[in-house]
Amino acid sequence: MRYTDSMARSAEHLRAALPLMTQQRAALHPASYAVWYEFVSGMNPSLNQALNIQTAGGQTLDEAQVWTLYREHICELDPATGEKISAGLNQVLEGMAASAAEAGHQSARFDQSLTHWVERLLDNPPQQAQAQVLQELLSGTREIRGALNHLKQRLDSSQEEINSLREDVRRARGEALLDALTGLANRRAFDLQMQKCIEAAPTDKSTAPCLVLGDIDFFKRVNDSYGHAFGDQVLRAVAQTLKGVVGSCGAHPSADEALPARIGGEEFALLLPNGQLQLAQKMAETMRASVAASRIRRGATPAEIERVTISIGVTQMALGESADSFYARADRALYASKRTGRNCVTVLAA
Ligand code: GH3
Ligand code: MG
Ligand code: MG
Repeated sequence: MRYTDSMARSAEHLRAALPLMTQQRAALHPASYAVWYEFVSGMNPSLNQALNIQTAGGQTLDEAQVWTLYREHICELDPATGEKISAGLNQVLEGMAASAAEAGHQSARFDQSLTHWVERLLDNPPQQAQAQVLQELLSGTREIRGALNHLKQRLDSSQEEINSLREDVRRARGEALLDALTGLANRRAFDLQMQKCIEAAPTDKSTAPCLVLGDIDFFKRVNDSYGHAFGDQVLRAVAQTLKGVVGSCGAHPSADEALPARIGGEEFALLLPNGQLQLAQKMAETMRASVAASRIRRGATPAEIERVTISIGVTQMALGESADSFYARADRALYASKRTGRNCVTVLAA
């Protein structure tokens, strides 16, 4: 994990980073915040050195400089941390907005009392000098109230900015976990889900996670015969089939949590966190049959319709097992399917 600061410490960094970040010419996006967060926390000496040089003599950073610093010294903002930072930023702003609103209400109440006193004193001629003083006080309060209203407006617009930053982070997070070609979860998302399964440490053998691994048969031939673009079309079609299988089993709570992913070139996976081996096997068989039955259109004539098949391996996690060992058994099951003629499903029990 790149960032390990506590909530309190990260809030301190947030307060220090915010004014620095807003002085730059670059927009206030998460990459910009990561640069300034790391700068104020002092966790990244090479970044600080580069930033000190670039901002020497009061120079400010433009968009390109921020992104270069980000790429060269930070690389990739972990999506979960981005979410946390954005939530922290929001929390601080919400607190400030609430304080400003409360101060505004208090000054409005004070204004009312003063007005009341001034009116009473003005009704009484011997006390008109005192009324004068109070009137000045009143106009001072009104100024403060105006300033507080202005502050509140600025905070409200910062809040909107943060909400849109948050949306950007959420979108970036989603994109970082999706396979661009098929729209399925990608390898990274799969690995994260696998990690969660391991951390959940199941104690009941019968509901331990199940893994379905599929690999398209003779896919190289498809590419060699019809080109890479058609190969991509086949990958998208198989991905759709996989989604359809998960959708059609969606009524089952375990299937509902299943994560269909493209984890390699022509390799797909379905991870069922609360698996039941029978259900996983049924889903694998439905998937195999659906792929085998599908016809992928390559051109206009019936002769230009292709078929592909997929070989599948299925297994269930043993209690206390590592991710590597779990995955390796699913892979062995898959290669057993390849050896026994392809277009079939092999189940290997834990
Ligand atoms: P097997 O039945 O043993 O799995 O044979 P195969 O031909 O499917 O397996 P092999 O590993 O020999 O070939 C996989 C091919 O997948 C090779 C590679 O060009 C292709 N491939 C990998 N990623 C992509 C991709 O994103 N798009 C396309 N079109 N092809 C890809
Ligand atoms: Mg393969
Ligand atoms: Mg293959």
